[in-house]
Amino acid sequence: MLGLRLAVRTQTLVTLAGALALSACREAAWPTPSQQAALEDRHGAGVTATSGGPAPGGQPPVDAGSAASAAPDRAALTTIAVRNAIEPKAGRLPPLPSTPPGTPRVRHVIIISEDGLRPDALMRARGPVLTDVMKHAAYSLTATTIRHASTLPSHAAMLSGFDEDAHGLTWNTWRPGRGFILVPTIFDAAERAGETSAAFVGKQKLEHVIAPGSVGVFSKPGFLCHAVSEAAARYFVEKKPTLEFVHFADPDEIGHHQGWMSDEQLGAIRGTDQCVANMIEAVHRAGDDGDTLFILSADHGGHGKNHTGRIKEDRLIPWIAWGAGIRPHKIESPINTTDTAATALWALGLPRPLSMEGHPVEEAFRHPD
Ligand SMILES: [Zn+2]
Ligand SMILES: [Zn+2]
Repeated sequence: MLGLRLAVRTQTLVTLAGALALSACREAAWPTPSQQAALEDRHGAGVTATSGGPAPGGQPPVDAGSAASAAPDRAALTTIAVRNAIEPKAGRLPPLPSTPPGTPRVRHVIIISEDGLRPDALMRARGPVLTDVMKHAAYSLTATTIRHASTLPSHAAMLSGFDEDAHGLTWNTWRPGRGFILVPTIFDAAERAGETSAAFVGKQKLEHVIAPGSVGVFSKPGFLCHAVSEAAARYFVEKKPTLEFVHFADPDEIGHHQGWMSDEQLGAIRGTDQCVANMIEAVHRAGDDGDTLFILSADHGGHGKNHTGRIKEDRLIPWIAWGAGIRPHKIESPINTTDTAATALWALGLPRPLSMEGHPVEEAFRHPD
């Protein structure tokens, strides 16, 4: 029995804060619906596959670096992003209530991956929702991704618990003919145990990691986080999957075009705050505040206008866990992205491969009473 007896950590407090912050940061939302539509036109949207369904084929490669031809639009968008990046207004978030008693187990895990989110960019952007969440989170700002700090290899490690040698996804574009990840993922583990799973992503190539048949739903509702999070939030309220993965492309996209740590990228990261709030609100609406664990992380960081993995700024990622069972504090022990997979399965009481390279971040959790 791998189930946990985790002490309660209600999410209500963070949810309330998130809901209020949602209205506070709407004015900073980026991009606007028309800007989003322009980006969706270039990147495609709406591909959805359900377990056992046909694999979507014929999609063009979708990679952040492929959008160079859209540079003129991008300049206009990022100007708007900077203008919209308002300063957080201190004191607008409500005082947070104390944690009520009880011992529910973790019944849902939501993993949010912000593509290309450097920990210091997150801290400098200081969106009100994430700022508040971190007060109630177990977090590390010195977690690392694998050596090959690219979207596909890194997400494969995050969602399987294995590094590249084992998972086999050595490339970084959507190549339908090349097949899928070589090791089981957390979605396989959930589905085989009779649980439910879903993935909402902004990049089609992630289907190499989340293969047809391995997950209940694979959907690319849009490219940027607003469309993705709204679809993912609706799905959670409706279906309450045990495991839900949500992918935001925004920080990486702006990083490639305007530079990591640029004002434009920080503005875009502030814009993702509302998308995180969408997920928190959804869990609240579903009535699952007390038994849902959130993990927010990234596939890689970056520097200049790229991420090669050769310097630490490319490999450093945030790792922020909040919700059910969490003991809020700054985590000192090292965390690798493969630990995300291990932690998700461990928290849900699901079996994980003995050879998995990742380990549960047990330090993040309260010990059972
Ligand atoms: Zn990436
Ligand atoms: Zn990238």
